Amino acid sequence: MHSSPKKDVLVMKFGGTSVGSIDSLRQAAEIVAKGVKEWRHVAVVVSAMTGITDALLTSATAAGNGNDRIYRASIDDILKRHLDVIAGLIDEGESRAELESQVTQFVQELRAYCHSIHVLGEVTPRGLDTIAPLGERMNARIFAALLQQMGVSSRAVDASGLIVTDNNFTNAAPLLDLTRARVKNILVPLMEQDITPVVTGFAGATESGITTTLGRGGSDYTAAILADCLDADEVWTWTDVDGVMTADPRIVPEARVIPELSFSEVGELAYFGAKVLHPKTIRPIIERGIPLWVKNTFNPDFIGTRISRQFQRPPGILTAITTIRSLSIVNVEGRGMLGVPGIAARTFGAVARQKASVLMISQSSSEQSICFVIPTASAAQVIRSVEDEVTLELMRGDIDRVWAKDKVEIVTVIGSGMRETPGVSARIFGALGKAGINVIAIAMGSSEFSISLVVASRDANKAVRAIHAEVIEKAAV
Ligand code: ADP
Ligand code: ASP
Ligand code: MG
Repeated sequence: MHSSPKKDVLVMKFGGTSVGSIDSLRQAAEIVAKGVKEWRHVAVVVSAMTGITDALLTSATAAGNGNDRIYRASIDDILKRHLDVIAGLIDEGESRAELESQVTQFVQELRAYCHSIHVLGEVTPRGLDTIAPLGERMNARIFAALLQQMGVSSRAVDASGLIVTDNNFTNAAPLLDLTRARVKNILVPLMEQDITPVVTGFAGATESGITTTLGRGGSDYTAAILADCLDADEVWTWTDVDGVMTADPRIVPEARVIPELSFSEVGELAYFGAKVLHPKTIRPIIERGIPLWVKNTFNPDFIGTRISRQFQRPPGILTAITTIRSLSIVNVEGRGMLGVPGIAARTFGAVARQKASVLMISQSSSEQSICFVIPTASAAQVIRSVEDEVTLELMRGDIDRVWAKDKVEIVTVIGSGMRETPGVSARIFGALGKAGINVIAIAMGSSEFSISLVVASRDANKAVRAIHAEVIEKAAV
């Protein structure tokens, strides 16, 4: 790439709501056109239109369950939505006809996949990954055609030819060296010809070319991986809110935009459920220190949130509150556990064998119970696996039972400013006490960046609002 040290390469990513309708696609394209004037090179990453990835996955699962009416209707909707958008955006002519035929072709592929799934009666993770990125593949073509119509030279690029991943289908990890080489061979030459590539978010492929995905919400991650490989100066992710906020604005109407965040804060925030950025997004750009901005497509002049390596939060300031939903808390308990060596290690070994992700752990100091939080979807199999592991202890009565409480959520309060600041937890628990909310378990990140609490799902939104009012709104006045 050019050797000019500044404002050379910008990677822009547009989320589903930013490219999910005729008006929003137009708005997003205007933003790119402006970016192209101000930056030497712009690479664009697009998501599928809002709801399309869900619709694709619904089609595949419905086909697998033998629900042919549902999957056929869902496919018809997907086709209609794309054709309507094309008709509303692209002038009649050759390029519109070509686009329509490409989209129809993709939907034809989708029908064929779903038909095979229907016949086989099951859908594998690999099958899901072939189907899930079709929304991005169609939308990248629409977006590139729109840019081209506006006079911005542009081309759609499938990430399956760029982002090389392992074969962990539905949650693949990028292989950066191989990806870097592909980016250099495919993307850089386009950009050097002043063609703005529109890359499909979310998708990748194994070295042998089998399509994979980076996990739901993975288009943010795609943008960061490309930024790393292109040695970009900045990444801007465009979404439908003004930036990263102090809480999910759908839960807390008083939530405010956070002007600046450190890489570690945003990592913690995304990990603990703030949907605004995929949790792995900052990984590829941390080492290079590439700043990332979160901006609002529908309020493009607003500055948004800046996320950078340098930022240091002043002591005492808390940044945000997040929640993770659909969880279960598993308890392994019994008085005889006291002194049974290795019980924790064996328990977590049994959990790991089920590939369940443990989101939080706590052990009572009397060693009478171990409890940990996992997604409800894996609770039943995890309990069985732990029971198998401790069969002997259960028989002897050293362990009384292994059981799960469903319908719980983790509420996490995040902020590097809480480090060495006394009284933070007292204020949090005071606020919860006043609101009459029962706390089931507590854990503090050893980095002292966060405190997590487990509460019943029915209390979670109330808990977030109570903590927000106490530790964020009060601090502002
Ligand atoms: P995109 O399609 O642009 O990737 P997402 O729906 O994945 O958008 O993420 C943006 C949404 O995340 C916002 O509309 C907002 O409702 C939700 N959200 C949850 N927590 C936060 C937060 N802390 N800050 C900002 N948005 C949040
Ligand atoms: N379209 C994908 C999803 O809905 C990826 C993304 O939007 O980031 O999960
Ligand atoms: Mg997202």
